Amino acid sequence: GGAPQDLHEAANPNSNIKKVIGVVSGKGGVGKSLVCSMLAVEMRRRACNTAILDADITGPSIPKMFGLKTRAVGSELGILPVETRTGVKVMSVNLLLEHETDPVVWRGPVIAGTVTQFWTDVVWGDVDYMFVDMPPGTGDVALTVFQSLPVDGIVIVASPQDLVSMIVEKAVKMAGLMNVPILGLVENMSYFTCPDCGKKISVFGESHIDEIAAAYKVPVLGKLPIDPGLAKQCDMGVIEAFEGNYLADGVQALEDLLKK
Ligand code: ADP
Repeated sequence: GGAPQDLHEAANPNSNIKKVIGVVSGKGGVGKSLVCSMLAVEMRRRACNTAILDADITGPSIPKMFGLKTRAVGSELGILPVETRTGVKVMSVNLLLEHETDPVVWRGPVIAGTVTQFWTDVVWGDVDYMFVDMPPGTGDVALTVFQSLPVDGIVIVASPQDLVSMIVEKAVKMAGLMNVPILGLVENMSYFTCPDCGKKISVFGESHIDEIAAAYKVPVLGKLPIDPGLAKQCDMGVIEAFEGNYLADGVQALEDLLKK
C-alpha cells in the first residue's frame, strides 16, 4: 500500500533506514525477542548496518539480552540509540526508564505514540536492516504498532504447539489485514538435543512447520532447539557471544527476499 512509503519519508532526516522487518508472534513467551535479537546478531555478522527497535513496550527484553547498561541520551538532532558490543543500534523504552525494573503500564495509544517517536525522534543514521520486536499477539496493541511503522515484511515466530493450533493462522491473517508480506516462519523450541546421546527429542511433539509453511507459501527461516546455553547467554547479556548460527541461513534468505 501507499502508507508505508509515506512513513518512510516522514522519518527523521538523520535516519536513512532501508528495510524494516517486524518480528511477531501469535502469543507471548515463544521466544520472539530472542529470535529478533538473533536475527539482528546474524545480520550484523554479515557486516550490515543493523538496528533493533524494541516495540514490545510493556515487556522490553532486548537491552537485557545485549547487556546494555547505559541510558539513551538526547542530542541536538534527537535521541541517540545505544550501540551493542558488535555495533547493533538499539532503542527501547528500557533505555529511557530511570530504573529498568520500572513497569510500563501504558495503554495502547500511548504505546503506539512511543513507537512512532522511536521511528521519528531517534537519530538512527544509516541502517540497512531494522528489526522491530513487535508486541506479542494479534490484539489491539500489535495492530496499532503495525500502523505506526513502515514495516516491509514480517517474520512469524512460533512454537511447535502454535503451529498445530490456530495461532500462526491468526498472525498470517493479521499480516494480510495490514497488507504486509510474510518473509518467513521461525520455529522456536523445536527440539532438544540430548547432551548424553545426541538424540533429537521433539519435546512439544513432531514439527508441522514445513506443512504450514507450504500451505501459506512462505519460507521456513529456521528451527531453533531449546538450548540452555543460549538461554544462559541471553540472561547474562552476551547473546552476541553465542557461537551457534541457527539463523544464519534464514538471514541470508531474508536478504535475498528483500533485495527482490
Ligand atoms: P517472547 O519475546 O516471545 O515473550 P523471549 O524471547 O523473551 O519470549 O523468551 C522467553 C524466555 O525463554 C527467555 O528467558 C529466553 O531466554 C527463553 N528462550 C527462548 N527461546 C529459547 C530457546 N530456543 N532455548 C532456550 N531458551 C529460550
